[in-house]
Amino acid sequence: MAYYQSSPSAGRHFLQIPGPTNVPDRVLRAMDNPTMDHRGPDFGRFGGQLLEKVKQVFKTSGPVVIYPASGTGAWEAALVNTLSPGDRVLMCETGWFAHLWQEMAERLDLRPELLRTDWRRGADVPAIEAALRADRDHGIKAVCVVHNETSTGATSRIDEVRRAIDAAGHPALLLVDTISSLGSIDYRHDEWGVDVTIAGSQKGLMLPPGLSFNAVSAKALRAAETAKLTRSFWDWRPMIASNATGYFPYTPATNLLYGLDAALDMLAEEGLENVFARHDRFAEAARRAVRHWGGAGAGIEIQCDDPRHFSSVLTAVRLPEGHSANALRGIILEKFNMSLGNGLGRLNDRVFRIGHLGDFGPLSLVGALGGVEMGLAAAGIPHQAGGVQAAMAYLNGNA
Ligand SMILES: *Cc1c(COP(=O)(O)O)cnc(C)c1O
Repeated sequence: MAYYQSSPSAGRHFLQIPGPTNVPDRVLRAMDNPTMDHRGPDFGRFGGQLLEKVKQVFKTSGPVVIYPASGTGAWEAALVNTLSPGDRVLMCETGWFAHLWQEMAERLDLRPELLRTDWRRGADVPAIEAALRADRDHGIKAVCVVHNETSTGATSRIDEVRRAIDAAGHPALLLVDTISSLGSIDYRHDEWGVDVTIAGSQKGLMLPPGLSFNAVSAKALRAAETAKLTRSFWDWRPMIASNATGYFPYTPATNLLYGLDAALDMLAEEGLENVFARHDRFAEAARRAVRHWGGAGAGIEIQCDDPRHFSSVLTAVRLPEGHSANALRGIILEKFNMSLGNGLGRLNDRVFRIGHLGDFGPLSLVGALGGVEMGLAAAGIPHQAGGVQAAMAYLNGNA
């Protein structure tokens, strides 16, 4: 069975969801190696080098813990290692992923306090500062922010969140979900004073799903000494102790680690700054296409309506009332063999999402936008034709 094609059309499937992303052939080939003895000498050398190398992408000199889990596991790890039952946590409800993280916090007996948004922008930094200033006895133990909200295509300004916490003189930990931004959008764990950075393998890191990460500050490590939430599998302490010699306390996802090694080399060879610039450029081209489709009163919009929060990872596209984004995605999958992201939570059927991240070049973008534009026509959704042209004109002017 061909796992990647639901229709028998020729040509490679276009996987344009905002994660999992397309895995480069070089990463696939790296994983296609015999699994090694994870307690043998070769693994110790390999693991030791990899655990150092992975720090670059987080821009940290501290420990990075790697779990054989999806990103959700790394969310839980960040909470259970640093917090105690009943702790208050300030959470920015920027979209569906922020909402799921809040539900997890509730299940873990934490007390989340929500700063709500209309799901069309990133975290409200002045509101964070005001909430922390009002918390005079420092009952809030952590501020939780999703860096790139993958359900809406809005990116929060973590540098500004840091400054707001400092301006309020508040000691709360800063926990940041970079599951869809790491390796795609500028991110600086140490410089921005983040205490736990949460990441996953299957988005900007161009790997299959199955690995997740916690980059951990010295302050978070100190919090882990007194935190009282129950933890076993997620406990940083045995991990970091084993990692010191290149090993893991339980079986790591060996072949995914080979892939991670190759993906980190690819990011380093391109240069992280060039990787970020590439994502910025494709995102701008995609937005020009969407604005063009929505012009002349057609009513198609970019879901994020604050330009300071536009995401370079994905563009969520909002259809006018009365049109089904799910029907559109179905037509595009059937006719053009392309998967687009669905609308999540309250955005179900209103929004579809174009992923433009990871192993993604100019023709991937033109192809993806071409599929959308043909799909809009096939689905009978009013739009101004020529969005792909607008994107190409931008790319040509900004090569
Ligand atoms: C994908 C994603 C998640 C969920 O990660 P899983 O790997 O599915 O557990 C959480 N947060 C953000 C921002 C994401 O993009």
